Amino acid sequence: MTKLPLPTYDDVVAASKRLEGVAHRTPVLTSRTVNELFGAEVFFKCENLQRMGAFKFRGAFNALSRFDEQQRRHGVVAFSSGNHAQAVALSARLLGMPATIVMPQDAPQMKVDATKGYGGNVVLYDRYTEDREQIGRDLAQKHGFTLIPPYDHPDVMAGQGTAAKELFEEVGPLDAFFVPLGGGGLLSGSALSTRALSPDCALYGVEPEAGNDGQQSFRSGSIVHIDTPKTIADGAQTQHLGEYTFPIIQRDVTDVLTASDAELVDCMRFFAARMKIVVEPTGCLSFAAARQMKDRLEGKRIGVLISGGNVDVQKFAELVSSN
Ligand SMILES: *Cc1c(COP(=O)(O)O)cnc(C)c1O
Repeated sequence: MTKLPLPTYDDVVAASKRLEGVAHRTPVLTSRTVNELFGAEVFFKCENLQRMGAFKFRGAFNALSRFDEQQRRHGVVAFSSGNHAQAVALSARLLGMPATIVMPQDAPQMKVDATKGYGGNVVLYDRYTEDREQIGRDLAQKHGFTLIPPYDHPDVMAGQGTAAKELFEEVGPLDAFFVPLGGGGLLSGSALSTRALSPDCALYGVEPEAGNDGQQSFRSGSIVHIDTPKTIADGAQTQHLGEYTFPIIQRDVTDVLTASDAELVDCMRFFAARMKIVVEPTGCLSFAAARQMKDRLEGKRIGVLISGGNVDVQKFAELVSSN
């Protein structure tokens, strides 16, 4: 594949025009309780209230709306068991093109149903014996589909950056900004908006403690690969950063931090009890790290990106009632 240029803030601006009237301009919530606890002003950008329940809609829709006539006719293929699958299926439906989603046979029925509900054609594979990337590539080759990856693509990254752009436009410059990190589509896009709109803001990516490949990569200067980590943060169970996301993260991010599963559960409980919002485990990474740094944030203006809210209610109840 030919290497594409890295996205810039101009690409985020272009993406935000494509998303106007299609994606929700999600609310920015504040909480008196949190502000008192921190002795600071904390702004939560609520992508759990985005269409299909996560920011992934932004990147998928932006990428698909750039297809040419022939790509639209053939449609898109994606491999994902999570939010990217639903984001691609919904975006394809809105743009009137076919979508094929490659999902593992043991994916939660709810996610398979949601993807089908958005009109996606689901192809199941055995995650222990088959290679999903190979299946995706074969389907693309055979049917002329265009493959859209979950994070490592300039148009996906630019789309993800529109959430942070909206936050800075609404609340002005910040002193520190916390963003969940998986493969880095959200963090790299957020970095472009942060460096353009609030250049002096400290920017932190936050990943699960059990899978700190991003932290290792950031600190060592080259992309570190790990085995699929065991964590409840299923949106951030990635094995490595991307070849497009990593250089931007390295250039523009202040540091990469981690949070444990126990801290994520504690944040889920806090969001439900105090702020009346449902946040999936991965969506809690940012707030968990902000809480760890609380003493150093006194008197500051802080942004926290809540990335998604897609968690089965049964699972949610189980997690928040555990100790
Ligand atoms: C995908 C996802 C992430 C991680 O995003 P990357 O772009 O892979 O870093 C974080 N939170 C939620 C809810 C997600 O779906």
